[in-house]
Amino acid sequence: MQNTHKKRTVLTVLLLGAAMLLLILVIALDLGKGQKETPFEQSGISMGTVVSVQLYGRDGEKTAGQLFSEFDTLEKDRLSWRLESSDIARINASAGSPVSINEQTAAYLKKAIEVSQKSDGAFDCTLGALTKLWDIGGENARVPAQAEITDALQTVGYQKFSLLNGQAALSKGQALDLGAIGKGIACDEAQKILEQSHLSGAVVSVGGSILLWGDRPGGGDWKVGVRDPRGEASDQLGSFSLAEGFVSTSGDYEPTLTENGKTYHHILDPKTGYPADAGLISVTVTAPTGLLSDALSTACFVLGYEKSLPLLESFDAQAIFVTKEKAVRVTSGLAQTFQLTNGAYHLIQDT
Ligand code: AMP
Ligand code: MG
Repeated sequence: MQNTHKKRTVLTVLLLGAAMLLLILVIALDLGKGQKETPFEQSGISMGTVVSVQLYGRDGEKTAGQLFSEFDTLEKDRLSWRLESSDIARINASAGSPVSINEQTAAYLKKAIEVSQKSDGAFDCTLGALTKLWDIGGENARVPAQAEITDALQTVGYQKFSLLNGQAALSKGQALDLGAIGKGIACDEAQKILEQSHLSGAVVSVGGSILLWGDRPGGGDWKVGVRDPRGEASDQLGSFSLAEGFVSTSGDYEPTLTENGKTYHHILDPKTGYPADAGLISVTVTAPTGLLSDALSTACFVLGYEKSLPLLESFDAQAIFVTKEKAVRVTSGLAQTFQLTNGAYHLIQDT
């Protein structure tokens, strides 16, 4: 009897040991998977643009699902002026009277107003009537008559938009357009999700805005390519390094409208009502948040190089400007790391 009992005990210990070993092996394999340097990659269309994510570390697929679902919610419930369900569409539909809005939307709008004020209206999220008139990139794109532009301009002005106690109110005829900050906001929301994930590093790209988060596999800073504004989408004019952060680019290359041999781009000057013409063809901005990098790239495009410098400084942001003459100017915080690689451009170094 005792012998049988002993045998059973030995067997149980052996089995337990084997199970433990198996568990350790599985954990080891899982860790191995987590540390693999090949990212989980996913691309798709969301928020009216191409979105792609590269996720390093554990649970990439699950996190990608969370990110894409967040982008769709942002578009549907918060930002889109085309989808009736969103906060922005509801505010637009009741221009003239106040609407209760979600706290998160109110926070985005508050920041947007701050950039409008500090850029002296070069960035203005209340220019919806004007962008709708031009509809550049949309189905009804056309060059409006001067009288129509003058009329639409009457409605533009962040000063006539009020945001108080969770209520937003446009003045009559006014409309919001968050097209200049939506992609940056998506990067901010992506960062919150990544902070809660098991990932080690990530690159999230939403149209012209990028979030570089966590550790780059292999160590060192992330490398950011700056698009050649006169080349194909994959052509670069140079690159710079960044430990982590947000990068947004505004350029005159897309979307555009060509009528009677003249090409019009989508960044409008709220002072004139026409596409901005401050001597630039692209501006790339790094800033403490995605919303700021996106808003500032649009504002700087409208302002031009000189006027942009104090604005960037006030938000602790850096930029790379590309002029019509193909000159590249880089603010001091990026000057060390920026490398021009495209011979069609020349660098102007400020002393
Ligand atoms: P981005 O590509 O980030 O520069 O944003 C351009 C989009 O923002 C346009 O397609 C318009 O929807 C909107 N927009 C154009 N001009 C302005 C402006 N001056 N201020 C705010 N939004 C603008
Ligand atoms: Mg922008």
